[in-house]
Amino acid sequence: MTDLGLPDGILACLFDLDGVVTRTAAVHAAAWKQMFDGFLHERDGDAFRPFTDADYDEFVDGLPRADGVRTFLASRDITLPEGGPDDPADARTVHGLGNRKNALLLERIRAGGVAAYDGTLRYIEAVRARGLRTAIVSSSANCRDVLRSIRAEHLFDVRIDGVVAAERGLPGKPRPDTFLAAAGDLGVAPSRAAVFEDALAGMDAGRAGGFGYVVGVDRAGRADALYAHGADLVVSDPAELLGDR
Ligand SMILES: [Mg+2]
Repeated sequence: MTDLGLPDGILACLFDLDGVVTRTAAVHAAAWKQMFDGFLHERDGDAFRPFTDADYDEFVDGLPRADGVRTFLASRDITLPEGGPDDPADARTVHGLGNRKNALLLERIRAGGVAAYDGTLRYIEAVRARGLRTAIVSSSANCRDVLRSIRAEHLFDVRIDGVVAAERGLPGKPRPDTFLAAAGDLGVAPSRAAVFEDALAGMDAGRAGGFGYVVGVDRAGRADALYAHGADLVVSDPAELLGDR
């Protein structure tokens, strides 16, 4: 292992955004819950079964927005028309619900701002100082704005986010395609790249893509689940990998 806490031969690090670089995972979870509980209440009245933390972990976290809507609804045997990306936030369609969630998310972000995890930023700076290349790999269509707001755009050589994935037709996590595209853009074989992720779907993507090292970032006390989904190592923050430095 190197003093970056990575196996020898790793040349690039691929970082998820929400929950790894920024403290936005909880904001996403809250916006999803608000949206789904509103929808389910509208549909089933007071007998509705609320959207739970386990639903978030299993069906939504890390996925592109529309996939998250569809996957959770399928778990409750609910099918809605697809609609289109420009559907208004009150449309009862997959994209309408996704846009409703995004509007709630942006409201929350605007109200509270976005904070970074300083340990992750410190780790990324250390990685770059050693000559490794870095990418941000996020399902979020708001990735670029979020990175700008924490002044961290310059820390990544490559950005594969929801916007780029849509342009290139890349399926999102748990499929490995967005991580593979980032490694490809960096000119590094997957076996020479490390993935940093906090979502179960991100672990699945890391394993499916044959990446050299998959680091689970556990902000929520669910290390066992991250290991079960393919983590090589689970840390509570990437800075732990730097040891005492
Ligand atoms: Mg995440």
